[in-house]
Amino acid sequence: MPTQLRKLIKSRSTAFNRQGGRCFYCNYPMWRGALEPFAQLHGMTLGQARQFQCTAEHLLARQDGGKDGSDNIVAACRACNQRRHKRKKAPEPDAYKALVQKRVACGKWHPGRAKIIATQVTLMETLN
Ligand SMILES: [Zn+2]
Repeated sequence: MPTQLRKLIKSRSTAFNRQGGRCFYCNYPMWRGALEPFAQLHGMTLGQARQFQCTAEHLLARQDGGKDGSDNIVAACRACNQRRHKRKKAPEPDAYKALVQKRVACGKWHPGRAKIIATQVTLMETLN
């Protein structure tokens, strides 16, 4: 595996743990490794669950000189990552986070998925 990719994967893993397994932007839980247990836990189809895959998000984009170290990488779900970069000019991380949080608050981000936040919290309380 190329060194650069290995570094990126390590940074993603650090970010995932630092963020308690939640997306930097929408704060929804994410999965790594196996998709099916996550889908089962939250009662989703595999296609729906795929949106919550943990990805590495560069705060400062690579094309602008952003590096793969853990100080420039946050963990973001696939949906947030893709939607940010689908825009003509990717919004700044803080601006994008505010926009996503606003949509989450009115149920327009991951529609119909509001309850999975509660599920996860309950599960973690059970484990503690
Ligand atoms: Zn997200």
